[in-house]
Amino acid sequence: MTKETGAKKFFLDIEPDGIEKLIVAAGHDAYRAAQIVTWVYQKQCDDFSTCTNIPADLRTYLSQHYYLRSMTIAGKKMSAIDGTVRYEFKTRDNLSVFAVFLPTRDRRTVCISSQVGCPIQCRFCASGAVKMKRNLTRGEIVEQVLALSKDTGQRITGVLFMGMGEPLLNYNAVVSSVRSLTDFHQFGIGRRHITLSTVGIVPLIRRLAEEQLGVRLALSLHAPDDDVRRTLISERVVPFRIVDILEAGLFYSRKNKTRLTLEYIVFDGVNDDMKTMKSFVDLIARHVHPTDLLQVNLIAYNDTVHDSMHMEGSKTRLRLAPPRRETMEHIKNFLIKRDILAIIREPKGADIEAACGQLGF
Ligand code: SF4
Repeated sequence: MTKETGAKKFFLDIEPDGIEKLIVAAGHDAYRAAQIVTWVYQKQCDDFSTCTNIPADLRTYLSQHYYLRSMTIAGKKMSAIDGTVRYEFKTRDNLSVFAVFLPTRDRRTVCISSQVGCPIQCRFCASGAVKMKRNLTRGEIVEQVLALSKDTGQRITGVLFMGMGEPLLNYNAVVSSVRSLTDFHQFGIGRRHITLSTVGIVPLIRRLAEEQLGVRLALSLHAPDDDVRRTLISERVVPFRIVDILEAGLFYSRKNKTRLTLEYIVFDGVNDDMKTMKSFVDLIARHVHPTDLLQVNLIAYNDTVHDSMHMEGSKTRLRLAPPRRETMEHIKNFLIKRDILAIIREPKGADIEAACGQLGF
């Protein structure tokens, strides 16, 4: 039996570039680092003792100093409608984190969390109703992908940073995890199959653009007009104007040569009238160049029970309600007729509270 040291560390928190350093410091050849990366990220090993081509004393050393899994699956619900699976994990400090497996005919995508709770508290979002506890570490972020791959027995081919939390407010851990996800020797997931969704933290979008990650960016815009947006997302927490968010997003997509997605959750009577949609089209026409790649994802609001818990101090107490199906189609056609690529994103796992805005308690 392996003797453990008192303060073991979480191995997935070590950036793969740092693995070589620790292997050499432990008196082993540097080339072992690449073998270990293959075991941990490609073969998804969760116990060093199974790494058969690694010398026994190095396996023992790693087992004594590091652990490979930090979270446990505490709950799992599968949708009877579309095969979506919602997972609840427990962290080592006993906090709940959610992730969702979203299978389609040709892709196996996961939606993962970047924080425990969310400091933004969007009024329409169940995650926002969960008090912000802490950032997830880089290891805890990639562990969600490993855990869902292992539990479903499927290779993951796409990742959405759209679970709990605002990814850009956990900047370093998220960037580090994206580098692992796209690295050919680790997860090897295509850059265009990873989407990072942000509520619009302007300076951090611009900083992210310079990282050249090449992944897709989605802006949770939901309105063309700052007054309407303020009724959904507190300006106290996100004090940026829509035009500045859009310009930052376009800067990102031009730098990374990726399509920018504008997410537009449609609420009955709040942002679904034709006057609002005309303003939305005007906003796009004023800022988007003909060479820009842009897509609008229309998402029908999923009723959550958390609405009334949000927007403390808000002057507007509009009750949020899902739009009618015809309205969604009407908006989509309206945008398409004006040469804007628009799709209706169908809810996944709505029966198990795994759809957009429902990840919470
Ligand atoms: S929509 Fe995103 S940013 Fe807003 S509360 Fe939910 S998780 Fe946080």
